[in-house]
Amino acid sequence: MIVVMKPGATQENLAAVVDKIESAGLRTHLSKGEEVTIVGVIGDKKIIANLELQMMAGVDKTVRITEKYKLVSRDFHPEDTIIDAGGVKIGGNEIVVMAGPCAVESLEQLREAAQAVKACGAKFLRGGAFKPRTSPYDFQGFGVEGLKLLRKVADEFDLRVVTEIVDKDDIEFFCEYADILQVGARNMQNFQMLKALGKCNKPVLLKRGLSATISEWLNAAEYIMSGGNEQVIFCERGIRTYETFTRNTLDLSAVAAVKELSHLPIVVDPSHGTGRWKMVAPMARAAIAAGADGLIIEVHPHPEKALSDGDQSLTPEAFKTLMSNLDGIAKVMGRTI
Ligand code: PEP
Ligand code: MN
Repeated sequence: MIVVMKPGATQENLAAVVDKIESAGLRTHLSKGEEVTIVGVIGDKKIIANLELQMMAGVDKTVRITEKYKLVSRDFHPEDTIIDAGGVKIGGNEIVVMAGPCAVESLEQLREAAQAVKACGAKFLRGGAFKPRTSPYDFQGFGVEGLKLLRKVADEFDLRVVTEIVDKDDIEFFCEYADILQVGARNMQNFQMLKALGKCNKPVLLKRGLSATISEWLNAAEYIMSGGNEQVIFCERGIRTYETFTRNTLDLSAVAAVKELSHLPIVVDPSHGTGRWKMVAPMARAAIAAGADGLIIEVHPHPEKALSDGDQSLTPEAFKTLMSNLDGIAKVMGRTI
């Protein structure tokens, strides 16, 4: 349930409402807008149903929220949330681009990639150090060493780091080296990891599961938020359908759906979303037109030699062309890039 306070409600009115809710053993979540304050109520449904708040001073109305996710919901928090990741704001007016190789392969590869993406305006260096590969015989990533390389190179080029975490026991050292912890599609419903991420203080990029509905995805974010970490960024990366021409089917309607249902930012990954480098630019442009807050794109200095996802990786030149074309679309959307 949410309690919508009247525009003229006083601090005392608000305090009395919060006190009544919390005295009943329920949790509150405040969202203070420019005019109206909303008190979100979380806890036992039966206790919530018996709370009589309607007649309290300063209360405009109470509204039942039927969805299971609450903190994630735009009803609880009508204004867009802007997340600060290593000093870069995600979800505001600026569209944030994260780019780099699928996997960290060497210092040279990372440096070449970082230099190229920085020159074109990317703010984050992406790259997997722990790779969740479909086959156990494929390159699994360099682990901790890869993570350290990522930080070192990102710092050299004044970039932030976004990288995938695959084990909840690694959270502490990931927090040391990364600015955003990425939960991959295969781990979207790894509830133990989501709960543990709820206890850390770093932004989380939550990729959509391979076959996850939007509701399941929002509930996965609720696991993180309900643990206390409210810094969640969604990432649409394509879902599994009957189509085989593309690796996944990039669901850009999810951007509009998430914007309607949630206040959290959403970025789009057209690389995994299509699996084909030629489709990355058109889908990146479409993502911005659909209202995405950012893009995460695979760029490799030599895609033909990539240890993973070469087919969907842009060369530095192709990335440069793409970035120069995004400006106009961002402008039409009233945003900068
Ligand atoms: C990745 O970003 O490298 C990755 C493995 O993505 P996903 O989890 O979306 O497959
Ligand atoms: Mn990849």
